[in-house]
Amino acid sequence: MVRHPQPTSTRHTGGSTPVRLCVGCRRRESVGDLVRVVASAGHAVVDERRRLPGRGAWVHPDPGCVSRAERRRAFPRALRARAALDTTGVWQHVERLTESRTDTEPPRPDRNKEAGRPVMSQP
Ligand SMILES: [Zn+2]
Repeated sequence: MVRHPQPTSTRHTGGSTPVRLCVGCRRRESVGDLVRVVASAGHAVVDERRRLPGRGAWVHPDPGCVSRAERRRAFPRALRARAALDTTGVWQHVERLTESRTDTEPPRPDRNKEAGRPVMSQP
């Protein structure tokens, strides 16, 4: 039987950029666009520096991906946890990122302080 040599890798990731699978949407993404999640004492926590030892689960910093991953228990499965993991830390991280991304306006100072002036009654 003749075997044609075929390249084992069919994906072109554009070089040396490492690529991981998002546990939420299961799309392949470069690690720079994903956050690494590790299990720590029953909690799923974001490994911001990506240096913690052990297994890591990768997910988009996106509420949709996190909730999808949570619903299908992707975190405990990917992290080989025995029980469910508390994902509060992941949510906080995602919310922080989402807020800073959508917040295009500078924070406004509170102007309600001037509302109590009695001067505005007389025309
Ligand atoms: Zn995703």
